[in-house]
Amino acid sequence: MKTNRTFTMIKPDAVENGHIGAILAKINEAGFKIVAMKMTQMSRRDAQLFYAIHAERPFFQNLVDFMVSGPVVAAILEKENAVADFRTLIGATNPADAEDGTIRKLFATSIQNNAIHGSDSDDNALIESEFHFATREIF
Ligand code: ATP
Ligand code: MG
Repeated sequence: MKTNRTFTMIKPDAVENGHIGAILAKINEAGFKIVAMKMTQMSRRDAQLFYAIHAERPFFQNLVDFMVSGPVVAAILEKENAVADFRTLIGATNPADAEDGTIRKLFATSIQNNAIHGSDSDDNALIESEFHFATREIF
């Protein structure tokens, strides 16, 4: 389904390193409106389900360990062309490949500890949003 919303999480590394405020400022400056937001910590089961598509990848266990290692900031963002524009704003998965000025270039420290998640399709944005938020928490 076509929407103008995407889902994001500021990952545990960026929360631990004190980058919540700076990342939210970048998101606002890029024209995204925050329509849902919370700080939360995923259980192992949450992280395994959230990244289930990567279950067979060699990095999966480490990824789950990382994602449950501390709190995240989950949010739903609204903007025209939200999914694609947000992927551009966050930059490549590996910060070494990310464009200057992107959130991952600025705040990620490795391909795993890459500061932020962004949905990769409108369908996944909806699934991921409903995974983290109740209807009454979305504005
Ligand atoms: P995300 O889904 O978190 O927005 P992405 O879509 O850029 O990231 P994916 O391929 O979906 O990248 O990988 C999910 C996450 O798994 C990455 O963001 C990163 O934290 C971790 N990851 C991906 N590839 C590797 C790798 N080769 N080694 C270690 N961790 C990895
Ligand atoms: Mg992905």
